[in-house]
Amino acid sequence: MIRERLAKTLDGDVLAPGDPGYDAARAVWNAMVDRRPRLIARCRTVADVQAAVRAGRDLGLEIGVRCGGHSVVGLAIPDDGLMIDLTPMGAVRVDPIQKRAWVQGGALLGALDRATQTHGLATTAGNVSHTGVGGLTLGGGMGWLARQYGLSCDNVVAFEMVTADGDVVRASQAENADLYWGLRGGGGNFGVVTEFEFRLHDVGTAALITELSFPIEAAGSVLRVVELSYVDLQRIDDTPQGHAIRRYWKGHYLRELSDDAIEALLHSRREPRSGGLPNIGLQAYGGAIAEVPEQDTAFAFRDTAFEYVAASRWTDPAEDDGRIALARRTAAALDPFARGQYVNTLSDEGAEGVRRAYPPDKLVRLTTLKDKYDPENVFHLNNNIRPSEQGVRRAYPPDKLVRLTTLKDKYDPENVFHLNNNIRPSEPARRLQT
Ligand code: FAD
Repeated sequence: MIRERLAKTLDGDVLAPGDPGYDAARAVWNAMVDRRPRLIARCRTVADVQAAVRAGRDLGLEIGVRCGGHSVVGLAIPDDGLMIDLTPMGAVRVDPIQKRAWVQGGALLGALDRATQTHGLATTAGNVSHTGVGGLTLGGGMGWLARQYGLSCDNVVAFEMVTADGDVVRASQAENADLYWGLRGGGGNFGVVTEFEFRLHDVGTAALITELSFPIEAAGSVLRVVELSYVDLQRIDDTPQGHAIRRYWKGHYLRELSDDAIEALLHSRREPRSGGLPNIGLQAYGGAIAEVPEQDTAFAFRDTAFEYVAASRWTDPAEDDGRIALARRTAAALDPFARGQYVNTLSDEGAEGVRRAYPPDKLVRLTTLKDKYDPENVFHLNNNIRPSEQGVRRAYPPDKLVRLTTLKDKYDPENVFHLNNNIRPSEPARRLQT
């Protein structure tokens, strides 16, 4: 049986429907995601990850890679496929002299913050401590320290990764520099990252925040200054951003906040008066994020001034369609002012979203890298960079292939006409179960 075959090759457990722990392992942050993998490989070691990737491919199972489970559409969880569960690989080792942290591929941000703060050190991490280091860093990684020290991905000195063939490779400035470029912003497209080596900074352990929190009618009347520890700051949104709630979001990058954009934003927040509107947030970019040359990483649009997100939360499934429609409508008000989007705040946009997250020249480089490291698209449960067909790759240069794929997505997204030198359409969008 498939399960026994996989279990024999793994140190960690293999779970199937009905096993104790199966439902907990497949549950993710967004309560709308309710998928049932055929098997869950709870990997403990790099060798486990290698074995799981090879077994998944041999058995023809769709593979998902799970770290913190915070993908809003639950990209890590394959229905009827193999979920490579990295959560048992959550260890963090710190060298305070070298100012380095070695973080396993399944670690949560809280583990990274706790381990580094013991020495008064930190690196950029997101604002909610139960988010995964894996997905966050591979897509970029925005947090309180980013304007001072760059994004999380800018602080990665080296990656260890299991490829689609089950081999282990390293990526750094000195080794596989092309992959090092792609892993800093290209998401989980190229393999399973089993270890991140981060550069750390002396930040001390205290944080001072000024919090402006008010209902829109009382705008301007609340100003509060709070002193707390850095670790507490990193957890401050853990509860409001907790699990088991239904969620949907839409985002944009804004190069500037013009008067017209502000007016559109405020107007979108006022209507309809009946309620159910998403919360909206603006996060400032710039600083050290913008100082990294645009071409140095796959992460794109470093000259962004603000990231805008319209995010909805609710509990009653009967509200799904209405809430999602309102969030889409609210965010659409900012469309005319937007340029690009953070790959980690894409939701169900599919290929169209991937084209918003990366400008064409980066998509060409990412496709070339995908062709090299994952030509069969084993890792496609992500914001997918689709590899090109082998023969077709020889016939067209990468920039033309990207344009041809865009055209294919528009005119033949189901690949009805495939008995030809086929330009494959992009992966379809992963919809939430509504
Ligand atoms: P998962 O669902 O486990 O993984 C998402 C995808 O990442 C997987 O499908 C896989 O393709 C890939 N992946 C994960 N780990 C690995 C690995 N080790 N190797 C290869 N591929 C891997 N983003 C910010 O930048 N800053 C924030 O402050 C921030 N706050 C957030 C707060 C909340 C409550 C939520 C839900 C999200 C937040 N995000 C933030 C967005 C977050 O970065 C993305 O949702 C990210 O994908 C989550 O990663 P994860 O590992 O938790 O998710």
